[in-house]
Amino acid sequence: MEKRAIEIIKKAGEKGVLQSDLWKMLGTDSREGSRIAIRLEKKGLISREPTIHAGKKTYILRLIKRPPKKISIVSVKGCPCFVCPNLTRCGIGQPSNPISCNKLTAWIIEKVMEESGG
Ligand code: SF4
Repeated sequence: MEKRAIEIIKKAGEKGVLQSDLWKMLGTDSREGSRIAIRLEKKGLISREPTIHAGKKTYILRLIKRPPKKISIVSVKGCPCFVCPNLTRCGIGQPSNPISCNKLTAWIIEKVMEESGG
């Protein structure tokens, strides 16, 4: 039910959907519709803006947009694994592994020092 509610709210876009319309679209009652909307709000997925519609108090529901996650290659730039001849043979339980690798450890320490300004 929550997934369907999200789909309806998402489809409504910027103008949002009235909570009093949502429960009708979901084929449920106002009490259950209200519970669903409150749960989605608590999860941080939607906003509920109070409004008056046809003389009754209700809420405009809108999807909360999150900025797209930025993926940057900067954080792994210089990692020795990218050019390591042992990459395909490296792993937990193998002779070459990330836990005991001096090259990887040195690179991580260097990154930590850079980021902490040291
Ligand atoms: S952890 Fe060490 S041995 Fe393994 S791939 Fe990276 S650099 Fe190579």
